[in-house]
Formats: sequence, structure tokens, C-alpha cells
Amino acid sequence: IRASASPRRPPGSAEGAGLSVLVTGAAGFVGTHCSLALRKRGDGVLGLDNFNSYYDPSLKKARRALLGSHGVFVVEGDINDGRLLAKLFDVVPFTHVLHLAAQAGVRYAMENPASYVHSNIAGLVSLLEACKDADPQPAVVWASSSSVYGLNDRVPFSEAHRTDRPASLYAATKKAGEEITHTYNHIYGLSVTGLRFFTVYGPWGRPDMAYFSFTRNILQGKPITVYRGRDRVDLARDFTYIDDIVRGCLASLDTAGRSTGTGGKKRGPAPYLRVKAKKNVVEMPGNGDVPYTHANISLAREQLGYKPTTSLEMGLKKFVRWYLSYYGYNRGTHTFRNS
Ligand code: NAD
Repeated sequence: IRASASPRRPPGSAEGAGLSVLVTGAAGFVGTHCSLALRKRGDGVLGLDNFNSYYDPSLKKARRALLGSHGVFVVEGDINDGRLLAKLFDVVPFTHVLHLAAQAGVRYAMENPASYVHSNIAGLVSLLEACKDADPQPAVVWASSSSVYGLNDRVPFSEAHRTDRPASLYAATKKAGEEITHTYNHIYGLSVTGLRFFTVYGPWGRPDMAYFSFTRNILQGKPITVYRGRDRVDLARDFTYIDDIVRGCLASLDTAGRSTGTGGKKRGPAPYLRVKAKKNVVEMPGNGDVPYTHANISLAREQLGYKPTTSLEMGLKKFVRWYLSYYGYNRGTHTFRNS
């Protein structure tokens, strides 16, 4: 998604150059890592998160504690709260907003569709309103999703692919977000960059995602449930390790407006976990999941210098190491909504 601001410094440069960033969804998986990385390189960061209970709230609180120990404060509040946003922009002259707050997850949309409209549409508009009224007007970088490619049957997906066939309400709200952010760019000149993440995984990750529940089940000696697509086709996902996503987000903040797209390398299903798993293979329910995703990252490479470096095997090892240190063996005490 093209936008209008000019670059403030070379993309991906290791040193902070005085960016002042509001990170929404800061207690979330990606938000925590991005906030830490920004802080680490010396940029100013303030987090905002409503700590909703879509998945284990204690994990979000633990992430908040981690952020606090690194000097990142997370305000508890909702992006729909326009007065809170106006106050934050009044107090801090944010140069950038990294907008990661959203109702994530594809399947949960069938259970609670309103939460997607609340966070991904109404919340986005509320945030953009606050950004366009702020002085200075911050450049916005936000997370869209590979899900906008929907039921495309040509891979790898690139920005040129059609996005008019979303397979879930989640995907539809992300697609709507792309149109909405375009509009704020056209009407108000707001600098907005949308990044289409492809299945992000890693330490402090989301319990509702397959790699997380696979790890838990394998460690507890329980079978994992593997979905099979129509006509017995294996499902496939293009996984992106969290550190690669963080580098992409920071490069995008640094270029603040000239960039678009991100993703990961094509990989098969998770071998590191699969070898040890007892599998229940079941037909994929019609729940909004698409059969496969696969990213063409040429544009992100060209515009952001984006270059993912972590192999799936290495990334999963890092995740499992974190999981064991966080939960320990056989302690299924954490709760899951969708696993
Ligand atoms: P996450 O659920 O861990 O983080 C989102 C955070 O936003 C949560 O902490 C939640 O409490 C907060 N939040 C939700 N609604 C809010 C609201 N109305 N006001 C304030 N805070 C709110 O998810 P994540 O995996 O870190 O994803 C970050 C972003 O990346 C999301 O926009 C998601 O849709 C997008 N994305 C993620 C993936 C992935 O694989 N993780 C893939 C594609 C896109």
C-alpha cells in the first residue's frame, strides 16, 4: 500500500534515530517483539493493548512484564476509545504508529464475528481518525494478512494477485482495512503502509496457532490434529519467523510510506514437530482456512531490503526452547480458545 511520507533514514538501520512509536497490540505476539526491538535500538515506544481474552490473558500479562522490564510501558485501553487516543497523541508527538492490534484468527470469526468488526474495522477507523487529527501526523504501518489472497490458486502470491475472494470474515476485515487505509491516504494524505504477514511463529507466540498446539500436544504425548484439504491434498502454510517479521516492520517504519508487502520462504509442513507426533488426519472443516499460502516477497525485498534469514527448522527449535522454559514439560495449565 503506497503512502506519502519520505524516508527518515536508511531502512533497517540498526540504530534508533529518534522515532517515537505508538505500538497498538503491544501485548500481543508480534507487538511484544516489535516493541522490544524498537526499544533496543533506542527509539521511543509506548504500547496500547486492551488485553482481551481471545487467548490466555496471563500470557499477555507476562509479555507486558517483559516489556516493562525493558522500559516499555503498555497502556491498557481500546483503539475504539477516541478520547484515549486523542490524549495519547496530545501528550506524545508520535512520529509513527505501528498498528498491530486486531482480532486475529480465522476460525474464531464463526464464534464471535462482532469482535472482528469491533477491532479490525471500527477500531481501525477510530485509530486512523486520531492519526489524521494528530499534530504531527504520524506515519502508520499496519498488519494486514496473507489471508486477503483467499482462494487464489496461483502461487506464489504477490501484490498483483486478486484479493476479492476472502475465505473468512477475518480475511474480509483485513481486506476492508486495506481499502479504508487507502481512503485515509487519498483524502487526508495520511502516510499508511500495509504489510501482509504470512503465518508468523516464534517464542511468545499465539496459543491458538497450530505450531503452538502441536508443541503442547507432542510434549504431552497427545495426538495432533492435521487437516487435509479437499481431494486429500495436504494443506501448506508459508511460515515467517518472528525476527524476520520484526525486521520487516522496522524497515517499513524507517521507510514509512514507500513500502509494501512481506512474507517468508516457501516451506513444507513442520518437520521438526511432525516426526514425533501421533497424527489424527481429518478433513478440513469449512471454517475459513485456505488450503495453502505461499509468498512472493520480491517487492518487499526491493522496497524494504527485506530478507528473511531463519529457517523453519531453526525457528521451531527456538520456539520449542521458549515453550519449555515458559511452561515446562507436561504442564497443560494454560487455556486455549482455538487450538
Ligand atoms: P495477537 O492477538 O497476539 O495480538 C493482537 C493484540 O491486539 C492482542 O494483545 C490484543 O489484546 C490486542 N487487541 C485486539 N483488539 C484490540 C483493540 N480493539 N484495542 C486494543 N488492543 C486490541 O496477534 P499477533 O499474532 O501478534 O498479530 C498482530 C497483527 O498481525 C494482527 O493485526 C494480526 O491480524 C496480524 N497478522 C498476524 C499473523 C500471525 O501469523 N501472527 C498473520 C497475519 C496477520
